[in-house]
Amino acid sequence: MKRTDYISWDQYFMGIAMLSAERSKDPSTQVGACIVDENNRIMSVGYNGMPAGCNDDTMPWGKVGAPLDNKYFFVCHAELNAILNYRGGSLKDARIYSTLFPCNECAKAIIQCGIKEVIYCSDKYSNTDSTIASKRMFDMAGITYRPFEVKGRKITFDL
Ligand SMILES: [Zn+2]
Repeated sequence: MKRTDYISWDQYFMGIAMLSAERSKDPSTQVGACIVDENNRIMSVGYNGMPAGCNDDTMPWGKVGAPLDNKYFFVCHAELNAILNYRGGSLKDARIYSTLFPCNECAKAIIQCGIKEVIYCSDKYSNTDSTIASKRMFDMAGITYRPFEVKGRKITFDL
């Protein structure tokens, strides 16, 4: 008789997105993303961080101040990193798990690389223009999005 308390595909991939978020150095927002193909094979992962070669210790991590003195011009989002980290060819018809609903910039990249479905955890910026723009583009482009269903399964690791 097979084990019955194994995690679902959605839990597996969102769990990997959540674990990836733990790599982020951003003091306020940690986001992770995991891209999966139609056969449930993981294609790529990413988290929000400074571009390669841009020193984490000298780049700004704050949210306020002049544009060149806060993080927003510089941080590469988890979803975009996951897309750009992929080395295998096409992401057409893949799906992306993200711990946060994609911003408008990531939404454009998601659409342009052929990803067909977005599964997200938090949608805490749903009332912002960025998220509204993302949904408008997803709707027009035929990209489906759905919230991750939290079932309350607890998993603990000693790392
Ligand atoms: Zn983004």
